[in-house]
Amino acid sequence: MEYYSTNRKAPLATLRKAVVKGLAEDRGLYMPERINRMSKAFFDNIGKMRFQDIAYNVAEAFFGEDVDPDGLKDLVYDTLSFDCPVVRVKENIYALELFHGPTLAFKDVGARFMARLLQYFIRGERQEVNVLVATSGDTGSAVANGFLGVEGIHVYVLYPKGKVSPIQECQFTTLGRNITAIEVDGVFDDCQALVKSAFMDEELNGRMKLTSANSINVARFLPQAFYYFNAYARLKEMGAADELVVCVPSGNFGNICAALFGHEMGLPIKRFIAANNANDVFYHYLQTGQYEPQPSKQTLANAMDVGDPSNFARIYDLYGQSHERISSLISGATYSDELIRQTMRQCYEETGYVLDPHGACGYRALQEQLKAGEVGVFCETAHPAKFKEKVDDILGIDIAIPERLQAFMKGTKQSVPMTKDFADFRQFLLSRS
Ligand SMILES: *Cc1c(COP(=O)(O)O)cnc(C)c1O
Repeated sequence: MEYYSTNRKAPLATLRKAVVKGLAEDRGLYMPERINRMSKAFFDNIGKMRFQDIAYNVAEAFFGEDVDPDGLKDLVYDTLSFDCPVVRVKENIYALELFHGPTLAFKDVGARFMARLLQYFIRGERQEVNVLVATSGDTGSAVANGFLGVEGIHVYVLYPKGKVSPIQECQFTTLGRNITAIEVDGVFDDCQALVKSAFMDEELNGRMKLTSANSINVARFLPQAFYYFNAYARLKEMGAADELVVCVPSGNFGNICAALFGHEMGLPIKRFIAANNANDVFYHYLQTGQYEPQPSKQTLANAMDVGDPSNFARIYDLYGQSHERISSLISGATYSDELIRQTMRQCYEETGYVLDPHGACGYRALQEQLKAGEVGVFCETAHPAKFKEKVDDILGIDIAIPERLQAFMKGTKQSVPMTKDFADFRQFLLSRS
């Protein structure tokens, strides 16, 4: 299958090129030229299928022309070494828990799949591939863990010194092996600038293979469709999938975009809700038809602090740039930090379920917008213990830290100190080439 750019000014690309390059030459986002529909038999049977088998069928519809069946099977089963269960929170509201992976956030699915697909495409090549990633916290941990131990690939995670939480920091500084953490004396923007300069440096690119593990990569966003099919299957098993509303706490809109691709493949979802924190550019687009990017605002649900969501371009393209089509399928919601806090407290008191600040936006939107007869499922995008200080403080509890998170915290921190001066970073990379 070929991939076109949302800007329509770059040549069509193979899957291999789209995965290795990430962004098209015209700086557009790659889209598959076709979206294959799943068969009626697949949907008839889905309630009896396991998550991994469902995911393999969906993966085949996207990648089956470009990856051999055994390779794809290994890739999917190896990626999904954990479950994404659907948990009932109250009457007609369910949580799709996406935090059972190694770093306790949904980004594990996309990062693990991308690492394995990249490895599949570069196998047999002698030269190692170097993945550079700048992080303000969560992306670094998902990418580092997704690529951990993947042969032929070395990952450099650049993060701002003293500006990521201790829990986040230990998730990428204690791994060792093919993961090198670089502690930059600067802010997140300095880290990103170092990565961008490296990609533009000709001598560096001549000496070593550099690539990014950016969230706009097709291999990171498309696999996120898997767990929406699983959510439908599990609800169907429970007899609760007839008028399904899916609500996704959104920042860069990659996660909801994957759900929309699932819908295009025939997944019977009645409608969608994109829940935002105070960063509500998409909400305003739905109301007015105008897309007006804003500087991002810092909030309690910080993984959604995005003022110009990159996957808007994909959603816009998917529905032929029609505001009417988009706003009739998707509704919006936007919540202040105060409302997020209130929602976390109210849900905990009423049901005992502990929401994280991101999931709280999703839960609240369902509570406000579900109609009679509808069943709502919202994504719990991260484990609440990842935000332990905030959650404990808001709910007055002492939330237990899951064992796999504790294991990271026991490891020894290893990182390379770096200035924000590109000459130093360049010298460091050259010394490793
Ligand atoms: C990344 C992230 C989001 C936002 O997902 P998008 O795909 O960028 O919309 C929401 N919640 C958490 C916990 C995240 O890490």
